[in-house]
Amino acid sequence: MNKKLIFFSIVGISFAILLCVGALLFITQNTRDKQTSKKTPSLESLQVKYASITPKLWGEKMEGITSLLPSEASPVVYLTFDACSGAYDKALIDYLSENKIEATLFINSRWIDKHEQDFLTLAHNPLFSIQNHGTLHRPLSVNGKSIYNIKGTDSIQGVYNEIMGNDKRIFELTGKHPRYFRSGTAYYDEVAISIAKDLGYEIGGFDVLGDGGATFSKEKIIKQVNKVKNGSILIYHFNKPKSDTFAGIKEVVPLLQKKGFSFKKLE
Ligand SMILES: [Zn+2]
Repeated sequence: MNKKLIFFSIVGISFAILLCVGALLFITQNTRDKQTSKKTPSLESLQVKYASITPKLWGEKMEGITSLLPSEASPVVYLTFDACSGAYDKALIDYLSENKIEATLFINSRWIDKHEQDFLTLAHNPLFSIQNHGTLHRPLSVNGKSIYNIKGTDSIQGVYNEIMGNDKRIFELTGKHPRYFRSGTAYYDEVAISIAKDLGYEIGGFDVLGDGGATFSKEKIIKQVNKVKNGSILIYHFNKPKSDTFAGIKEVVPLLQKKGFSFKKLE
């Protein structure tokens, strides 16, 4: 009789322990799921949150866009280079690499598709920070606003896809999610900015136009250096090897060094 009692007690206690362990695992998993979903809200939840909000602003410089970073005791500058689509200015990138210049590369999905091997080489270079330049290279709008004759995304879903399509692509190839987003044309409305922030992103703006969409002459590119301050973010391109950008950069880098600046990357 006693042996039976002991046997059933052991079975009972074991069962209770198993239940507790199970419950604990369930709670841990649930918390983890919540943390993940907190970082990247679902499209559906964003559609509910922003359903009745109409944007009033449209631009490349507004609240919520990181255009200038805090100054530091020893002056710093952030060179950023976009690859929208098109070719690869390898000579420019090799120059940065050989001279150990840190830089931020904003890369669009279309460029990655065309230059996957080069993309992986860039992603493995510790001098460079890889950031998100959109999926279809659209201005970021919730209602289809345009700039420079390029039509923006036209819904919350459009904004979501423009950011997360390329986020997924970059994550699959590098195992890392970018922290900064810069839209094609660098234009936004304030609702789109808010959605990007909900998705865990900072907006990669700029305070000095480096190469004017790779249209500036070498002389103009050099002249722009006069506008640089401690903490400035400069915007250039590395997808247009036929432009004057590389010729300008070869002068800009030593000029900034002479002025006492060192180079940092956004990350
Ligand atoms: Zn671009």
